[in-house]
Amino acid sequence: MKLALYPDPVLLCPAEPIAQVTQEIRDRAEEMVPFMALEEGIGLAAPQVSWGVRLLVASEDGSSDQARVLVNPEVVWKGGGNEWGEEGCLSFPGIYGEVLRALQVRVRAQDLDGNDVELEAEDMFARVLQHEIDHLDGVLFVTRMRPADKIANKQKLDELVSRYEARRASTEP
Ligand SMILES: [Zn+2]
Repeated sequence: MKLALYPDPVLLCPAEPIAQVTQEIRDRAEEMVPFMALEEGIGLAAPQVSWGVRLLVASEDGSSDQARVLVNPEVVWKGGGNEWGEEGCLSFPGIYGEVLRALQVRVRAQDLDGNDVELEAEDMFARVLQHEIDHLDGVLFVTRMRPADKIANKQKLDELVSRYEARRASTEP
């Protein structure tokens, strides 16, 4: 398993819904959990490991034990007002900025057994879920950043683009 880094196209397009949770999907999702912990993330969306499906893993404390796998997750309710808070992203190493998010969300999804689940989250965990669900729509946190943070990160973003292009040039036949 390998991280897709910005501006990899897999990060920019909407992911496909999962019609049925198969064993292959379970296996791959269960691989994402330790991978996320290893990368020190608290959330990881399937497109970030070059898998274009609507699935995410997220953990309230970053541990594998607390990790939830959500299939076809959708925010069905937002509340508690909105707050700016700092975010980073495993697909954007070294880039941090403030993003406005709802403080509380209710998310509907399926679990790996194909059962419908609903969960409520607040504060940091609500933020993580909104960030990861955005990934499934091809929406990246840098587009939601405070304008001043966009400017502050411009050079680092340009560097990510150059590095991506250099890697592609070196792997092309
Ligand atoms: Zn992210």
